[in-house]
Amino acid sequence: MVMLSGENARTRLWLEGHTWGSMRRTAFILGSGLLLLVAFWNSATWHLQRFWGASGYFWQAQWERLLSTFEGKEWTLYIIGVTQVPNLLFWSFNGLLLAVDTTGKPHFISRYRIQVGKNEPVDAEKLRQSIRTVLFNQWVISPPMLVLLYPILKLWGDPCRRELPTFRWFLLELAVFTLIEEVLFYYSHRLLHHPTFYRKIHKKHHEWTAPIGVISLYAHPIEHVVSNMLPVMVGPIVMGSHLSSITMWFSLALIITTISHCGYHLPFLPSPEFHDYHHLKFNQCYGVLGVLDHLHGTDTVFKQTKAYERHILLLGFTPLSESIPDAPKKTE
Ligand SMILES: [Zn+2]
Ligand SMILES: [Zn+2]
Repeated sequence: MVMLSGENARTRLWLEGHTWGSMRRTAFILGSGLLLLVAFWNSATWHLQRFWGASGYFWQAQWERLLSTFEGKEWTLYIIGVTQVPNLLFWSFNGLLLAVDTTGKPHFISRYRIQVGKNEPVDAEKLRQSIRTVLFNQWVISPPMLVLLYPILKLWGDPCRRELPTFRWFLLELAVFTLIEEVLFYYSHRLLHHPTFYRKIHKKHHEWTAPIGVISLYAHPIEHVVSNMLPVMVGPIVMGSHLSSITMWFSLALIITTISHCGYHLPFLPSPEFHDYHHLKFNQCYGVLGVLDHLHGTDTVFKQTKAYERHILLLGFTPLSESIPDAPKKTE
């Protein structure tokens, strides 16, 4: 309904500037990318499948054991798979990050802070309020959507079917999920930056100009539905996924969004500079992967910054804020 009432505004927004032209270019490039992916898929995954081969039987046996334990209660198994497992991982990871955020210790983690001087220490009252919203989104807004997802998934095939997907198929699913998430998140997120939606909805998420891990789910309920949940849920619907794939994907998506908000550029983890910069500057870096930002030119300012130079996988232990320091500050 919200999407419909925003239809006019959205059309106007997209027709302005060069957005429409670059959307067509984007569709073309993504389409070609997908064709290439399909063309090379067999050879690319053949080795992985062989590697997976033996352990595949092991996981199949584990899954069958689980199925017989939950015989006739597949619905419970589904709920555990789509809520409890991903949420447990989310809070375990965020628990560790929160310990660092609130104490500034241990130093060997906090020294990787991206926005030096921010959240040192984090505002306790603001954090408490934010966690309340996160819990509300996670335990009140998400569950009905996930309950509704079950019958939709069943239209294509039982997510709790006996046969696990092959490793090859799972990799293909991950690629498709990621692509769908990128497209849906990018455009819904850009729409949320339209002045009308921004004021009413998205401003909340941007209260944190220096985000921390849990802020990944700190959002207005409408944003949580449109931008957080749907982009992640559509992939499994399109692919008719098995519960095992869905659980892995939801967990992965939560861990990745936590990393992109965590505020520390840690070694050997994906770089959070991109989305951190979005929180700092608001009008750059709307996507997850950055592919659509590149195609739409919404990362041109970012590309001229030190943050962009630091937007790499850190393969050593020297914090990037030290090896690639900001230019000396003027006045702020
Ligand atoms: Zn964010
Ligand atoms: Zn935003």
